[in-house]
Amino acid sequence: MPQPSTRRDFLARLAAGSAALLAGATTASCAPAESPPPPGRRKLGIALVGLGHYSTDLLAPALRETRLCRLAGIVSGSPAKAERWMRLYGIPKANVYDYATMDRIADNPDIDIIYVVTPHGLHAEHTIRAAKAGKHVICEKPMALNVADCDAMILACREAKVKLQIGYRLHYHAGHQELTRIARDRDLGLPLTMDGANGFRAGSKGWRMTQKLAGGGPLMDMGVYVVQAACCIAGAAPVAVTAKEDPKARPELFDECEETLRWTMEFAEGSSGTFMTSFNEGVGYFRATGPQGDVELSPAYSYRGVRGRTHRGALTIPNINQQAAQMDAFAANILDDTPVIVPGEMGRRDMQIITAIYEAARTGRRVEVSHTTI
Ligand code: NAD
Repeated sequence: MPQPSTRRDFLARLAAGSAALLAGATTASCAPAESPPPPGRRKLGIALVGLGHYSTDLLAPALRETRLCRLAGIVSGSPAKAERWMRLYGIPKANVYDYATMDRIADNPDIDIIYVVTPHGLHAEHTIRAAKAGKHVICEKPMALNVADCDAMILACREAKVKLQIGYRLHYHAGHQELTRIARDRDLGLPLTMDGANGFRAGSKGWRMTQKLAGGGPLMDMGVYVVQAACCIAGAAPVAVTAKEDPKARPELFDECEETLRWTMEFAEGSSGTFMTSFNEGVGYFRATGPQGDVELSPAYSYRGVRGRTHRGALTIPNINQQAAQMDAFAANILDDTPVIVPGEMGRRDMQIITAIYEAARTGRRVEVSHTTI
């Protein structure tokens, strides 16, 4: 049975801790010690753009554990919030920007990477400005609101000769790496039958339910993880999708987007799956069954406590800090000039799939997924 996601409970505890730290921050000395870099390595400076939940509760704490990068700067529209962060993390005033001044990061050698953690509808603008400032960029998921914006982001980074990583933290985590290994070794045989779901119950209306800032609803925010898991184990993007929205239980919250969406994906080698995403239900699992065995992750997408099993038994999944692993991997890509394993092209591919799913939901038809490349 799928297990309810524990993400929200975990987040509530984490948020309470971080909020207490930020509220009580009076001097830089209250900042916990950073991890030292490995011998012969230097740490790259990261500036976080958007100091909301994910930056506050996950990324800033993770930057205490990173070995190859450190929190060097911030971009915030709130002077009071920026002041608190400066005190808590010992960030110098010269490394504090707002949305009007962030282009000046171009002149700041202390900042190597700009991490875009704003609402989805702002990812394209902030990523392009970061690239034009000559900085490497991490952009949170989903990459943008549409494929055209993804194209502009990729081209801006290519032109500026900077690297671009999309914030799919699960690629750096043993549970989802097992899905990729299964695909590579064809461990379960083919075809695969998959199912998966990811969602939480939203309490009130926020930007995540608006077209302008989110570009959709739970599919953009939570369903994208399920799309990712399925593409990992299939080793490819789907060729076609169908989709249907459930009747809305709380139409007052979901007047601009779906509340719960169910969709299918067909893959070229005959694999297929049925999937669900919701802002009305706490859920988070992924399963695949083939002629030679099966795999299940449940909970599958949480920050901590991902568990899994295959037909051979329980998977050993270390409880690492996924965000620290993701940021350190990107820093290593920059320092060693190696390819990013979650590049903009992957975020763009997911946007092609999501676009097809929304079209299928709107028209009721089976929709072929566009596979153009840039
Ligand atoms: P949030 O609402 O808590 O924070 C958003 C931040 O953006 C706030 O500081 C807000 O002030 C700022 N902002 C700037 N311009 C804004 C505008 N015009 N409207 C609204 N806010 C504006 O959201 P969050 O949960 O921190 O999510 C931010 C990004 O991080 C999203 O892209 C989200 O998908 C992503 N995220 C990723 C994960 C993950 O596991 N990878 C988890 C949570 C969030």
